[in-house]
Amino acid sequence: MDIDPSILAAGLIASRARSARITADLDGERLLGPKLRIVNPPLWEVGHVAWFQEFWCLRHRGDGAPRDSILPGADALYDSARVAHDTRWTLPLPSLDATRSYLAGVLALVLRRLEREGGDADLRYFVQLATFHEDMHAEAFHYTRQTVGYPDPFPQSDSMPPAEGASGDAALEGGRFLLGASPGGGFVFDNEKWAHEVQVAPFSIARSAVTNAQYLAFVESGGYGRREYWDDAGWAWRESAVMQSPRHWVKQDGSWRLRRFDQVLPLPAEHPVLHVNWHEAQAYCRFAQRRLPTEIEWEYAASFGAPGAGKRRYPWGDAAPTAAHANLEGNGTAPVGAYPHGDTASGCRQMIGNVWEWTASAFEPYPGYVVDPYKEYSQPWFGTHKVLRGGSFASSRALLRNTWRNFYTPDRGDIFAGFRTCAKD
Ligand code: FE
Repeated sequence: MDIDPSILAAGLIASRARSARITADLDGERLLGPKLRIVNPPLWEVGHVAWFQEFWCLRHRGDGAPRDSILPGADALYDSARVAHDTRWTLPLPSLDATRSYLAGVLALVLRRLEREGGDADLRYFVQLATFHEDMHAEAFHYTRQTVGYPDPFPQSDSMPPAEGASGDAALEGGRFLLGASPGGGFVFDNEKWAHEVQVAPFSIARSAVTNAQYLAFVESGGYGRREYWDDAGWAWRESAVMQSPRHWVKQDGSWRLRRFDQVLPLPAEHPVLHVNWHEAQAYCRFAQRRLPTEIEWEYAASFGAPGAGKRRYPWGDAAPTAAHANLEGNGTAPVGAYPHGDTASGCRQMIGNVWEWTASAFEPYPGYVVDPYKEYSQPWFGTHKVLRGGSFASSRALLRNTWRNFYTPDRGDIFAGFRTCAKD
């Protein structure tokens, strides 16, 4: 499937427009921000996005030495594989203006090259890689703003999509299933390759993600203090974190509220619980006598249409996502009953968009895994990370599909993640 170079150029420009909006007001103290293990200094991250695009779309030459950067010394500043995370606050970084000039200069050169050499399959691949890399950093900027309490980068709209019910479980038959991406479907990451047959036992999965109201019952029962709900690693995390509720929940005058960016608002009961880590999701499951889906079950539920029909690219079919299907590139979470047009064949809602969903599965390579040119994307993280699926309101529309695998360590609650559950046998 060869994508027209003009579509790729439009994708680059759209990704830049969104990341520019999320970083537009970074200035003064916010340029470096607090030194935390889970965030990057914004000034560094903006430059890193430019560096990555330049490296893969303009400088990379197969096995040969890369061409020079238009910014002398760029590799020593922005190569995330070589510049240790905790040194990024003290690097001699260019000013914000100079960093933005680098960013704009690289984009202009890439667009020009795409016009000239758009027939080059390698260039088309790397342009997509750089676009999706920028999309992922835009989402990271977005959740960093929540972590450190900067203002919401997007104005809130009053018009929420209508929420209907999507309660209870969908019972799925299981059977043989092709897990992963098939060749010929466009750009994929190495960790999705390739589709291979797996056996799925019958299972029942919730039509909706767990809501704040449901999670509140766990919190109010004292679940964060009850050892029996946590496995050893989860309890070790809970003891070190000293928490009694999800991060950003605040109890004021007897009722629970939620810090959203720089504001504290009433806890939206029918929205999905957000900013819970894998341990918290697992503990809730023990409380509710449910379990997390495996990533095989998740992908099966999202992709399975009618018996005998092929696998769907998206929960609703093969059509690219619109604003009616899924909460992507949005302002914030929507109620779990919203977006009925995006339902799967079995009636599961919001499997794409709104919140990332933790699965029970460890992030591992598929059989026959071969690393792609950007070697640090998947390979360093196998075994230590858990798989999330589906994307959040802050994810790019162009990025996601049913086979897309995200992965974080089980202690990460800063990302835009919640979860849905399965019935226990
Ligand atoms: Fe990066």
